[in-house]
Amino acid sequence: MRYQRSSALFQEANQVLPGGVNSPVRAFKAVGGTPVFVKEAKGAYFWDEDGNRYVDYIASWGPLLFGHAHEAVLEAVVVRARKGTSFGIPTALETELAQLAVSMVPNIDKIRFVNSGTEACMSAIRLARGYTGRDKIIKFAGCYHGHADAFLIQAGSGAVTFGSPNSPGVTAGTAKDTLLARYNDLESVDALLDANKGTIAAIILEPVAGNMGCIPPEAGFLEGLRERCSDQGILLIFDEVMTGFRLGRGGAQEVTGVRADLVTFGKVIGGGLPVGAFAASAEIMSCLAPEGPVYQAGTLSGNPLAMSAGLAMLRSIEADPEVFTRLGEKTAYLHQGLDQVLSATGRPYQINRFGSMISVHFTEVPVTDFETAASGNNPSFKAYFHGLLDRGVYLPPSAFESYFLNDALSYEDLDFTIAAAAEVLAV
Ligand SMILES: *Cc1c(COP(=O)(O)O)cnc(C)c1O
Repeated sequence: MRYQRSSALFQEANQVLPGGVNSPVRAFKAVGGTPVFVKEAKGAYFWDEDGNRYVDYIASWGPLLFGHAHEAVLEAVVVRARKGTSFGIPTALETELAQLAVSMVPNIDKIRFVNSGTEACMSAIRLARGYTGRDKIIKFAGCYHGHADAFLIQAGSGAVTFGSPNSPGVTAGTAKDTLLARYNDLESVDALLDANKGTIAAIILEPVAGNMGCIPPEAGFLEGLRERCSDQGILLIFDEVMTGFRLGRGGAQEVTGVRADLVTFGKVIGGGLPVGAFAASAEIMSCLAPEGPVYQAGTLSGNPLAMSAGLAMLRSIEADPEVFTRLGEKTAYLHQGLDQVLSATGRPYQINRFGSMISVHFTEVPVTDFETAASGNNPSFKAYFHGLLDRGVYLPPSAFESYFLNDALSYEDLDFTIAAAAEVLAV
């Protein structure tokens, strides 16, 4: 049996880990079946515990821009580990990574390192609230900013004036300060702004959404938000945990030309180790402890192994800025191949793509926000996912996730994937 050992490991894991995993999407709930357990990985591939090889389209959900076990990152981590793994005392590495990140990203002077994207976003809104002296934030349905309480909010019923918790454990008190708008819909933002004048600290969004599949911003959307924020003293927060150092060296700010007041990072900036960060102008960042009164801290923040991995990753990018062009071309090639295969089947589908992010939705309506993303046919998605898994292609195990291409993927790998998709969809 192809997944024998993975199945046994999953059963065992379920005895001691809730749902057998440490992050829900890994459990395959959205697609059914048993998750595969990874044994090792290199470049574009990983091998599971049963010895099956997969072409990997999630790259640890984004961080591995150059593929698995990228030599420069490995070397940096191994060399660094021998000198001590954590101190809770400053190191020069933190300044080096900060200098490099600040030099690559537009419009930021200072950066604070944390341990995850969740921490970065949670801290960014605290800073925005402290800086503006206001309580409420606007987020968009379907955008993911980690699992902090303030973000686990869904649109309230009826008039969308404030949100309601979408997880037990999130209090109504927290939910009332998070307002929900529709992605790519400035009117829904205006309605919230009008009803909550002078109380909004920040608008936070994924400048290119990747957590409801890939959804690019429509023309004028980001610009419209920028204008409204500038007019009303609201901080615009770009959550670039996914897009930062992936869409370009300066992330979505660079490729869209729209500037945010606060930017959050994760994933690529840690090169595969747990790193998050948030960054802004010196003026905004001066509100942060110990320089200012807004508290934020972390025992392992700026950890030397994580900083070394991040440095090696960003230096690899700086040494090879063409990587973004190559990734964009590979993603466009995959798009074209899948498009041909899908159009031949006659079934409804949409393919969304931006840079090295791409997703397939089985629906006839263009996917531009959470509602249209949710209109996808889930049985079709499940069959597509499992068909490809059985043929050695690992796609995100949920229709609401983007694929992340990595530069280790060859055109042979892409052709292999397209051929596998043709086989699966021919049925
Ligand atoms: C992954 C992600 C996060 C959360 O990061 P974690 O490191 O998983 O906590 C936040 N925002 C976006 C856009 C993400 O893709």
